[in-house]
Amino acid sequence: SRSTTSYDLVIIGGGPGGYPCAIRASQLGLSVAVIDDRELLGGTCLNIGCIPSKALLQATERLEMARNLEAFGVMVDNVRADLDGVMRHKGKVVTELGEGVAYLLRKHKVARFQGRGRLLARDRVEVRAADGAFEVQASKAVVIASGSEAATLPDLPIDERRIVTSAGALSLTAAPRHLAVIGGGYVGLELGSVWRRLGSEVTVIEVLDRIASGVDSEMSAALHKVLEAQGFQFCLGHKVVGSRMEGDDVVLDVEPMGDGARGTIKADVVLVSIGRRPATARLDLETVGIAPDRRGFIPVDEGFRTSADGVYAIGDVIGGAMLAHKAEEEGIALAERLAGGAGHVDYGTIPAVVYTWPELASVGRTEDDLKAAGVAYRVGRFPFSANAMAKARLEKNGLVKVLADARTDKILGVHILGPDAGSLIHEAVAVMQFGAAAEDVARTSHAHPTLPEALREACLAVADRTIHL
Ligand code: FAD
Repeated sequence: SRSTTSYDLVIIGGGPGGYPCAIRASQLGLSVAVIDDRELLGGTCLNIGCIPSKALLQATERLEMARNLEAFGVMVDNVRADLDGVMRHKGKVVTELGEGVAYLLRKHKVARFQGRGRLLARDRVEVRAADGAFEVQASKAVVIASGSEAATLPDLPIDERRIVTSAGALSLTAAPRHLAVIGGGYVGLELGSVWRRLGSEVTVIEVLDRIASGVDSEMSAALHKVLEAQGFQFCLGHKVVGSRMEGDDVVLDVEPMGDGARGTIKADVVLVSIGRRPATARLDLETVGIAPDRRGFIPVDEGFRTSADGVYAIGDVIGGAMLAHKAEEEGIALAERLAGGAGHVDYGTIPAVVYTWPELASVGRTEDDLKAAGVAYRVGRFPFSANAMAKARLEKNGLVKVLADARTDKILGVHILGPDAGSLIHEAVAVMQFGAAAEDVARTSHAHPTLPEALREACLAVADRTIHL
């Protein structure tokens, strides 16, 4: 075994939580080691999450656009997908970005160990690498950024071919005839979109009576309608209660949550996308006295301290919004705190994007939230059908919805269903970060014709004075 080396900071997990934490800590003068078991750094997000899914979504969006160019007067013959080519595109994006992360760590003189890390003590981590095990010492802190794994169902053993998690659904070798998606969250809707565009019939089974739970219910309903028009089939308010194989197909028994009869859904591929659970199993948390909460997350205080002195946790493993950029903000804030600063995460302005087409993006409070909390608010809406650029782009679906405080006019939440909503939301994020009122955006010049004009008009609508509706 190798001799023990010591670092100020030892980070377990090189995903979007761990690696920005390492870079920021190094910028602030700390010596840092990152331990990750994957070949490519970047965690779930880069290897089997955000990045490969977006590469497939981008490729298939182009396919779908190319099929519909005639409405623009552009004639393209024989448009078709070459699945191998699409997968090569995905692989290249993932590899290049992963190599980029490795480069960034080298540039910041962060030591990188490939292997499994487990806690031996509050200041000692064992790394099990391919060529043996060794220990690293943490003189200041150990950071757990081990992320999450796909949750599964006991009845449906994952083989990543016929019954798949999102990881398998990113690498199918042929488009399924019928893809059954269990769970109507963003992962199911995004990967369902990919395979629908590549020719699969897609059925989404969801226990709740709405898709993308957690988003503003008006926006969820609007997205539901658009996806249905695209050919998605939805089986909402239903639970999968059993399954069996029938030849090469999987037959799912589904039961309504309310009254009604059981039914069956037959599919050649089933995607289980029911959420993610924290990855804590092999960290030996108990050796330092850390007990995960009821749902498996590591409890931390506002400074990301766990119950063990000198051990911190960030990212998916501590729960909250399980998003890459939330993990990144936490990693940076923690690094700043460990270097003596006052790093802080503003959880009220973390955007969330569902990368269907149109995209659904949101930041801040939902109308459902505000109602439940008894907050007096005003709503401004503006449809993309009334936006000139959306018209030129033939994007008629979607709307911008702005929620503002009835008394102060402060923007409390913005929800956008529409073309490039994931980019458009950032104007709202930025102004909310500065505590803007709807009136502030309403009085800000927006270039014409552009999609962001729809946000301005929705802000004008808060005061019932839209110009273009
Ligand atoms: P992770 O990214 O999970 O990284 C943890 C790393 O630690 C992993 O590499 C893991 O292998 C390693 N590890 C764990 N335990 C150990 C150990 N004991 N020793 C060594 N290494 C260990 N989020 C977004 O914001 N936008 C998106 O578009 C988006 N799309 C997604 C699509 C899919 C299909 C999925 C599955 C997720 C998506 N997410 C998206 C969520 C995002 O991937 C996570 O929120 C994010 O990766 C969390 O970062 P993290 O650093 O906490 O953990």
